Amino acid sequence: MRPLRSVLIANRGEIALRVVRACRELGLRSIAVYSDADAGAPHVRAADVAVRLGPASASESYLRGDHLIEIAVAHGADAIHPGYGFLSEREWFARAVREAGLIWVGPPAEAIAAMGSKTAARTLAIQAGTPVVPGTTTPLRDAAEAEALAAEFGYPVLLKAAAGGGGKGMRIVRGPGEVAGALESARREAQNAFGDDAVYLEKYIEGPRHVEIQVLADAHGTCLALGERECSIQRRHQKMIEEAPSVAVTPELRARMGAAAVAAARAAGYVNAGTCEFLLDRHGAFYFLEMNTRIQVEHPVTELVTGLDLVQWQLRIAAGERLPFTEPPEPRGWAIECRITSEDPASGFLPSTGRVMRLALPTGPGVRWDGGIEVGSTVGLYYDPMLAKLIVHAPTRAAAIARMRRALDDLVIDGVATSADFHRRLMDDPAYQAGDVDIQWLEGRLPALLAATPDAATTRRIAVAAALLAAHERPGTVASHARPAAGAGTPPTDGASAGAAVVDGGSAWWQAARRDGLGGS
Ligand code: ADP
Repeated sequence: MRPLRSVLIANRGEIALRVVRACRELGLRSIAVYSDADAGAPHVRAADVAVRLGPASASESYLRGDHLIEIAVAHGADAIHPGYGFLSEREWFARAVREAGLIWVGPPAEAIAAMGSKTAARTLAIQAGTPVVPGTTTPLRDAAEAEALAAEFGYPVLLKAAAGGGGKGMRIVRGPGEVAGALESARREAQNAFGDDAVYLEKYIEGPRHVEIQVLADAHGTCLALGERECSIQRRHQKMIEEAPSVAVTPELRARMGAAAVAAARAAGYVNAGTCEFLLDRHGAFYFLEMNTRIQVEHPVTELVTGLDLVQWQLRIAAGERLPFTEPPEPRGWAIECRITSEDPASGFLPSTGRVMRLALPTGPGVRWDGGIEVGSTVGLYYDPMLAKLIVHAPTRAAAIARMRRALDDLVIDGVATSADFHRRLMDDPAYQAGDVDIQWLEGRLPALLAATPDAATTRRIAVAAALLAAHERPGTVASHARPAAGAGTPPTDGASAGAAVVDGGSAWWQAARRDGLGGS
């Protein structure tokens, strides 16, 4: 096998930076790629080499598999790491990379294909003896067939796109009258999102948790389950917070779910890092949903409780190394991750845009920031709204929640509305603190969480912004170019005195404060 010395990273944002860091620690040369929208992005500067891909739109840049391979070959890369999203789960791309004589940092193309459609993955899991959600393994022909099956499994049922991802092409059906309409709209959405309108049917499980198992397999026959991640805090089937371990998983259940995940992975001929997603019901029964054949967004929580660097292991396994252990490590302590997105909770989580004017990052014991932004970054609408992940690790769950609360208080992102304050409110929620949640919990809790009184830090910032506005609108009271205390990035606590010490109307701070404190509320 070709030696691994140089890796092209076919991605952007925080995961591209994450892979650059792993490469650097392993002594590998990293090659970044970027679209025109990302020319000044942190991952471009962090890598040893950076090459322009094309215009901002993903279809003309990060999704150009042919172009990525050409660049890899031209710049002497030995391997391509796809990150997550974009081309990471495209069988044809994994195959094309291999055919170009390059190493694919991921599972074999055949394993991606085996797990690529949800229906194929269900068939494989059933053969491997892994329990799946009751339902079909072939696409629905028409509404009449769907109705007959729904009657057999019992309502409610879920229509799901076979090619699905990101919660798209999914419809809950609560009674016979809804079947035809739901099937049509699920098919349309699936066709638009994936170019494939195949939709199948599953029993809709009420009130389960989403618990997934991290799998790591080398090419020499070792395939391990590295414990679970609890991902039940979801909005519109999208994860917002992840934890490791899960309050609902005992060592005995961990072992059984791990064995089921390893059986499914082995059946697919899996090598490298992957994740088997399960629903866990209130009675401790679990059902395989799908296998994600790539590194997951939420991999850091597993890294923190196992002490393993999963991205480094992806690279080492791709280079042919053997895993040096045959038993998975016991989880140590508790890790929580909040996905910080450019979505504005105050306006129904609409994507927000802007320029990052100030950024104060939390540090200190047990705090990790996997981010793709810096001061000056422009947040647009071309790509996924996830800006960063804030991850904490502590000896117990309660200590991890307290740490996340502190870290979120320390975090300041000015210039673009984010989900950070919403996460802060979630950390204070008694049901969340008790771990008493399921995948439907957050949707029901949203109105109360959004109505909750803002925390002290937010109140302070709104007060400062109001004072700034007042000062700005009273000519003569504004001191030129004075800035609030830099400190940890927190504005002065006293709104009135902040107003007196302020800033010319055109300054960055003024604009940021106005947008942050007043524009969004
Ligand atoms: P996607 O690949 O689009 O993310 P998944 O199959 O992973 O789709 O499901 C996404 C989420 O939808 C799950 O985490 C869970 O919250 C919910 N979900 C999926 N299947 C079911 C089901 N049968 N019953 C209840 N909820 C489900």
